Amino acid sequence: MRLAFIRLVLALICSPALIAAALEPIRISPNVYYIRGESGVPSAANRGHTSNAGFVVTGDGVVVFDALGTPVLGQEFIAAIRKVTPLPIRRVIVSHYHADHVYGLPAFKALGAEIWAHPAADLYLKSDAAQQRLAERRTTLAPWVGPDMRLVGADRWVDREVTFRQGGVTFRVFPVGPAHTPEDLAMIVEEEGVLFVGDLMFGGRLPFVGEADSKAWISAIDRIVKFNPKVMVGGHGDVSRDAATDLRLTREYLVYLREKMGAAADALEDFDEAYSKTDWSRFSHLPAFHEANRRNAYNTYIRIQGGDK
Ligand SMILES: [Zn+2]
Repeated sequence: MRLAFIRLVLALICSPALIAAALEPIRISPNVYYIRGESGVPSAANRGHTSNAGFVVTGDGVVVFDALGTPVLGQEFIAAIRKVTPLPIRRVIVSHYHADHVYGLPAFKALGAEIWAHPAADLYLKSDAAQQRLAERRTTLAPWVGPDMRLVGADRWVDREVTFRQGGVTFRVFPVGPAHTPEDLAMIVEEEGVLFVGDLMFGGRLPFVGEADSKAWISAIDRIVKFNPKVMVGGHGDVSRDAATDLRLTREYLVYLREKMGAAADALEDFDEAYSKTDWSRFSHLPAFHEANRRNAYNTYIRIQGGDK
């Protein structure tokens, strides 16, 4: 406890990020705003602020999409919404339960917002992997993720498309997984042509593939492109006003991973050998390449070896 306090004080004194401006909502259509995360992977230096989130102001309160990556960021996100409207925050739709999108949920839960997620997230929340991730974030994101951080589940589980009207705005929430995770949800704000897709799109950086079903992810991208949204908000990077073009990078990377690692797995080639002889130059300049590529490749190799054709 004392150590945590000293760490917090040190961070307050030393961190330039803290002196940085508060979160700024960026308007992307008449009633829709987003918060843009910084590039790169979560670290104490960026305070875990690496993911995007958004909100929609209706005549009857606010609907939020994702909650950012720490409880403090969740509070700052609420403060950012308050710059735009004093209306109550009714609901938070969660794209998926990766830490960088949900560790801000406690702040919204405390306000009484109703949290919606896909039921596959419940399995994850009860898994060892969820606890291991929490332990890792308590270390790497101290003091922003502290000992009192708790994982917040959903109040409503959404396993099929749900359409609702709120304050004059029509929302469609629907599963797009299993793709980036088994629990991927997307949301369309109909009147404004805005589509939130979570981590199905990584803008301008290498995607984090992890345990993802990359084959299903590729088909999910093909489905999303057909919605032809005016604006698409991904889990990281800039918003897109040209979904087909901006999803191309993520799609091409996934196809390449599957092609190269699939050929190696089929030929019973050793992973390290296959990895080092693969030409990664099309992607190696991208942010997060060094942190994520080897693991993405390894997981793809293992999945394909295990029968994911
Ligand atoms: Zn993710």
